[in-house]
Amino acid sequence: MTKVIAIANQKGGVGKTTTAASLGFGLSASGKKVLLVDADPQGSLTISLGHAQPDELLTTLTNHMQSVLDDTHLDPWDGILHHPEGVDLMPANITLASLELPLMMAVKREYVLASYLTHVMNSYDYIIIDCKPSLDLMTVNALVAADSVIIPVQAQYLPAKGLEQLLHTIAKVKRQLNSRLSIEGIVLTMVTPRTKHAKNVLASIVAAYGKSIRIFESSIPVSVRVAESALSGYSIYKLDPVGKAAGAYRALTEEVLANE
Ligand code: ATP
Ligand code: MG
Repeated sequence: MTKVIAIANQKGGVGKTTTAASLGFGLSASGKKVLLVDADPQGSLTISLGHAQPDELLTTLTNHMQSVLDDTHLDPWDGILHHPEGVDLMPANITLASLELPLMMAVKREYVLASYLTHVMNSYDYIIIDCKPSLDLMTVNALVAADSVIIPVQAQYLPAKGLEQLLHTIAKVKRQLNSRLSIEGIVLTMVTPRTKHAKNVLASIVAAYGKSIRIFESSIPVSVRVAESALSGYSIYKLDPVGKAAGAYRALTEEVLANE
């Protein structure tokens, strides 16, 4: 059985891509077969896996979703990139933005990504989808394809209204389009550990959501090594194996595995 996890939050820069990559590498290091899917035209996940110029890639997620829309044949393995640390990647680039309009007009427009993934799904234990910072049709496609969602929340800010909107969208997708969908949990990112502020943010999130949504025990500390690893094209585990960010993402991976 393949588990598909979407990493989503429409707020920008909260650690979605970092979490998608680090969870993917972590699951792969635990012996799981992992496909990372970049569902953001910014291509940040693609870049952080070592493809500095995503716009030069010939086949990306755009082509596969287009092929579903046009009902034409494209080898589902076309464009999948193999990372030296074991994970596979379906990359994305700016062309994904041009799919927005044709996607809007399509019949079953919410099921296009899910439909593509069915062709490669059986070869993987986990498929991790890195969503873009918006709640548009592309993100709805990711939620429809997913079994669960992980919501990274940046610890510096109280999530207030943004999280309500995301939770509303997830609930609506579950009701109307994908009854399998569940929330895997909220993960706090960029935490400055042992500060009063970090404790306050955690307490307020637990108070607001802790009853209905799991808050992962592992929160991700702020660390410059995280940004360095994204630039290097390698995982945080390879770049800084004994660092605190690697340790935290390893612990998060364990929590996700325990929930299999
Ligand atoms: P977007 O909404 O643009 O897709 P995102 O939610 O995917 O952003 P990331 O790209 O993962 O967020 O992170 C935003 C920035 O913060 C990046 O420069 C990343 O390297 C940095 N960052 C992420 N996690 C950490 C961390 N734990 N410590 C320090 N910097 C971090
Ligand atoms: Mg991102």
